[in-house]
Amino acid sequence: MSDKADDADALVELQLRAAMASRQRPVMRPFTGCCYWCGESVESPRIFCDADCRDDFERNAATKGSVKR
Ligand SMILES: [Zn+2]
Repeated sequence: MSDKADDADALVELQLRAAMASRQRPVMRPFTGCCYWCGESVESPRIFCDADCRDDFERNAATKGSVKR
């Protein structure tokens, strides 16, 4: 069972495409070269290393509101 990583990649792509299709991108996040959540290096144009990091980041952002320091 080595498909976990591929599944995560596919999930991220699906979510990206869905977001782009519906234009639900309230916050534009610039590519920094690092995962926004855990700091791992990622390749353009990704800003998270996998869907888990994205979900955790979004959940955290939604919980704490727009201000986070
Ligand atoms: Zn990460």
